[in-house]
Amino acid sequence: MTLTEIMETLPYGPAPEAAQPAMDWLKAHKGKFQLFIAGKWRNPASKEWFTTINPATAQKLAEVAQASAADVDEAVKAARKAFAGWSQTKGHVRARYLYAMARQIQKHARLFAVLETLDNGKPIRETRDIDIPLVARHFYYHAGWAQLMESELAGYAPLGVVGQIIPWNFPLLMLAWKVAPALAMGNTVVLKPAEFTPLTALLFAEICQNIGLPPGVVNIITGDGKTGAALVEHPGVDKIAFTGSTEVGRIIRKATAGSGKKLSLELGGKSPFVVFEDADLDSAVEGVVDAIWFNQGQVCCAGSRLLVQEGIAEKMYTKLRARMEKLRVGDPLDKAVDIGAIIAPVQLQKIQQLVQKGVEEGAKLWQPSWAVPAEGCFYPPTLFTEVAPASTIAQEEIFGPVLAALTFRTPEEAVRLANNTRYGLAASIWSEDINLALDVATQIKAGTIWINSTNLFDAASGFGGYRESGFGREGGKEGLWEYVKKIEQHRTAQGQTSSARGLTARASAESLPPIDRTAKLFIGGKQVRPDSGYSKAVYAPDGRLVGEVGLGNRKDIRNAVEAARSAQEGWRKTAAHSKAQILYFLAENLSQRAEEFARRLSEQTGQDGGAEVEAALEALFTAAAWADKYEGLVHPTPLRNVTLAIPEPIGVMGILCPDDQPLLALARLAGTALAMGNTLVVVPSPLAPLSATDFYQVLETSDVPAGTLNIVTGERDELALTLAEHDDVDAVWYAGPQAGWALVEKASAGNMKRTWILPSSGPLPDTDEILRQATQVKNIWVPYGA
Ligand code: ADP
Repeated sequence: MTLTEIMETLPYGPAPEAAQPAMDWLKAHKGKFQLFIAGKWRNPASKEWFTTINPATAQKLAEVAQASAADVDEAVKAARKAFAGWSQTKGHVRARYLYAMARQIQKHARLFAVLETLDNGKPIRETRDIDIPLVARHFYYHAGWAQLMESELAGYAPLGVVGQIIPWNFPLLMLAWKVAPALAMGNTVVLKPAEFTPLTALLFAEICQNIGLPPGVVNIITGDGKTGAALVEHPGVDKIAFTGSTEVGRIIRKATAGSGKKLSLELGGKSPFVVFEDADLDSAVEGVVDAIWFNQGQVCCAGSRLLVQEGIAEKMYTKLRARMEKLRVGDPLDKAVDIGAIIAPVQLQKIQQLVQKGVEEGAKLWQPSWAVPAEGCFYPPTLFTEVAPASTIAQEEIFGPVLAALTFRTPEEAVRLANNTRYGLAASIWSEDINLALDVATQIKAGTIWINSTNLFDAASGFGGYRESGFGREGGKEGLWEYVKKIEQHRTAQGQTSSARGLTARASAESLPPIDRTAKLFIGGKQVRPDSGYSKAVYAPDGRLVGEVGLGNRKDIRNAVEAARSAQEGWRKTAAHSKAQILYFLAENLSQRAEEFARRLSEQTGQDGGAEVEAALEALFTAAAWADKYEGLVHPTPLRNVTLAIPEPIGVMGILCPDDQPLLALARLAGTALAMGNTLVVVPSPLAPLSATDFYQVLETSDVPAGTLNIVTGERDELALTLAEHDDVDAVWYAGPQAGWALVEKASAGNMKRTWILPSSGPLPDTDEILRQATQVKNIWVPYGA
């Protein structure tokens, strides 16, 4: 090539990063890695090993131990033993360990980056500039929370032993997302890296040794799905934190159902990348490159659906094709490569099959003119246009460098298309009109929204899904709640237990006239008869009949869910101030009938109804008070950004009320959920449903819109199951006997709805917990800069 040619074409020469230090590290371990349990390396009880290969070259990197159930057991035991000391270790001391981890990662940053690239196939540019710096950032950030836990999370304690299962797409970063908050909050950890990418986790284990972390605080066990399953099923684990496919997430949801294990799931996505006609198109094109070709598109929040406003679609596609033509696919260790290798042949086949499906279903395929390397596992950047919204490639997660483009006409249509997915992990919105962008941001159902940006991550910002993308958040203050529990004696007894119970009844039940009215159900703002045509007797504790309620069935629940769904949009959008007023007014109406309610309560429960009515009024006031005060945060992410962490309603919720203090429970649980903008299907306690059914008369005289709060009486577990199975219900709170816990959690796996399990009796949860359960945090990233 002549100098003139070089100057004219400016081609990239190879700029390879040396693999040698990482290869030396592998060699120093003789290419074989044991399990890291209780601070020591040990052989797997299974005596089985598996190989991990470099997907860019198909060459073997190392042999890694396959942990069996017996090894999992050892690791959990080690973590349990370590928990005694670690949970009592002062926050400041834990902070020092986390700080040491951050420092060590920085000191060995290049070794980590190269090792990650070798094991995963992602470009060195990404591991070096994104993955590893973010890993260090997570440990620093959480060192801070360890330091602050005592003051900022007063009354909360660590959970115990946490089982963590992570995928292969961001091996060390996912480890950091999970290990850092868990340790900061005083938990101990058993972590299983993905079978394709175990190496950086093993290097991290060495760091734990080097910094003198107490043995057993972090245990790393390698293995495949079987190892993961053994960890999930281990009775000694208090929480499972999982990142991976929705399919496996569903298995884990079912496996942990009823076990009392806390669970967070970060699952798949089909995130929309929405470009309005006033967007800066060149920036948007660069955004697409980051959204779908970052990490070969193997990103759970990849912007895999491009939604473009019709008028600019062709222009956008033209620019995009020109840009795609210039992307470089190849040796991931080459610093000038944009797209590296696909993780494994099995994933490559999956991508090829889905692309084939896209062609068969009539979408128009475009790929750059150049060919990808023949050796190793590579796939070119791919653009589909003319994609039908219901087609496979518009709906299914491909987890590869494949973009499906659709057009829209109006912002409303963009929102509808964006939400036309079972997922809800992330979205990007491109417009120079901040009004439009923020308006659309509030309407897209996703845990993270990036405005004029994409795939931004930081430890200070929460990350996690809506709908079938899972539940729970990682990062930010909101992520800490996944790793703590309320200390029991810290629950305030205000208005409950001793104050409402055990006091003499104000009104004597004997003096009352008999009641022969059968309470109906309350659906869509109307009293309705139960579909079954049956009623159910309600007895006082002394066996006397105090009334009858309708026996609701599946159909009634379905109608109630439909009513709650129709009311959802309106209630969500009702100003917080108005919601507060409506709840205050509800309390006012209840107070006018306080005596009647007190009498009814005394009859049903034999307790002091007057005190409970007072407590219920106070609970409604508290809910009203929070309606316009449950604030989000502005996270200080390090870019030129404001990252708004906004609590949003979950949507349609089913609430199965506990047996104790039926009116108070209704007021506190339903009141708080309403205050946060949810619409509800409430199933009153079967022991004392009449107070709830009386309550609908109060509702009728209030300003609560029809369908916002629906009441269905009947058999608790039967109705709970219907609610948990219903795909249009977004969350279920189940207070009931233990037998029902598994039932509800298992059935909720269908659409991955959030569940909250409560005992059937005893003190109610505190308001701060209810507020958190009634909301999900959306992080909206808004960059600035002229
Ligand atoms: P991906 O599509 O990202 O590979 P997977 O959900 O298949 O996602 O894998 C994510 C992690 O879950 C991996 O560490 C894998 O070994 C583990 N895993 C797979 N099957 C199970 C299972 N049944 N129970 C627990 N963990 C599992």
